[in-house]
Amino acid sequence: MPEGKNRIMTRKLYQDDAYLFVFTAEVLECRARDNENEVILDATAFYPESGGQLYDLGSLDNHAVVNVYENDREQIIHLVQDGVFRPGQTVAGKIDQARRLDNMRKHTGQHILSQAFVRAADARTVSSHLSDIECTIELAREDLTPEDFDRVESAANDIVRQNLTVTTSWYDREQLQTMPIRKIPNREGRLRIVRIGDFDYTACGGTHCGHTGEIGLIKIIGSAKIRGHIRVTFLVGQPALTDYQQKHRTTAELSARLTCHHTDLVEVIERKTDQIISSRRETAQLRNQLFERELPEIMNTAEKVGAVGLVVRETGSDDMKVLKDQALKITGEYTAVAVLYADDKLLVASSKDSGLHAGDLIRHLAERHDLKGGGNPVLAQCGGIDPARMTDIVESTVQLIRERLDR
Ligand SMILES: [Zn+2]
Repeated sequence: MPEGKNRIMTRKLYQDDAYLFVFTAEVLECRARDNENEVILDATAFYPESGGQLYDLGSLDNHAVVNVYENDREQIIHLVQDGVFRPGQTVAGKIDQARRLDNMRKHTGQHILSQAFVRAADARTVSSHLSDIECTIELAREDLTPEDFDRVESAANDIVRQNLTVTTSWYDREQLQTMPIRKIPNREGRLRIVRIGDFDYTACGGTHCGHTGEIGLIKIIGSAKIRGHIRVTFLVGQPALTDYQQKHRTTAELSARLTCHHTDLVEVIERKTDQIISSRRETAQLRNQLFERELPEIMNTAEKVGAVGLVVRETGSDDMKVLKDQALKITGEYTAVAVLYADDKLLVASSKDSGLHAGDLIRHLAERHDLKGGGNPVLAQCGGIDPARMTDIVESTVQLIRERLDR
């Protein structure tokens, strides 16, 4: 690197001390960008967005730092709201400590989880991403079992409980030959190696906890296949505990309502779902049987428009199959038009010899009342109708049918 560029690199104070939350530094450059300032200092404790780890927030001379990033000259740029910053001026920096500690826990947790995947499931991490709550890593494997995830998770949390010391040191490339390093970047020059006891050695420029016990719970909460890899979603520290609290509340509530142990919930819900499906089927059959028995009487009392019987009925079942079966039964046996409705559904069926195009009618109706619907000449339907408007819409449908049959 040319000497001139070397001179104005930002000194990364966070690499010497991840627990440095206040510092002073000299302003090297300041440029206005829209309503904000891009401020470059000779040294900073602000971590820039990098390596999947989130940037720091905080303040410079009490002006909010809203973003931090690094340019290709290894200068760290602080995006600062308001304020006036002049080259040569000394500024006081303050890091949002809670956010930084949270990021350190997630990031150190990710190192541990990645090594645990190597050791317990032979799965290498190819990329990682940490966000405010959920973190992800992508593994160079196509398949892992739930048992693999359990084993890896247990191994990772065991390292947390051992409260191993995390250290960082700089090495020349040649010195690394004998070290069991998980990931070596292609970058030239000396490399910063982050070591978690004898468990994990990784080349990394980020911020890490001093001891693994600070991290807290590491919990895998999901996995998905993506681009021939597996993407694992996990939580670290307080978000993991919050997730457990929420899930515990939900399962406790469900267990109480279904009067079973939480480990039996899936089985009990499956059984109840099967019962609901079969009783719905049985109800539909009974309704149809009852309907068939009542049909002659229904047709006797139906309004006649010319030679066409006009049947208007609320079915009492929101099962679309019941509505269809009953409507087609009417129009299959009689010269008739049937308007059947229940809850938010309305269906119109017409026998071929009635002269009414059910699909056209429903399209006209849908347009008039701003509804969604359609169908073919003999069967058409509307759904998602506000039940409070149903009476009006049925009335409007019947009116339209009368007009069309009268023509
Ligand atoms: Zn790291």
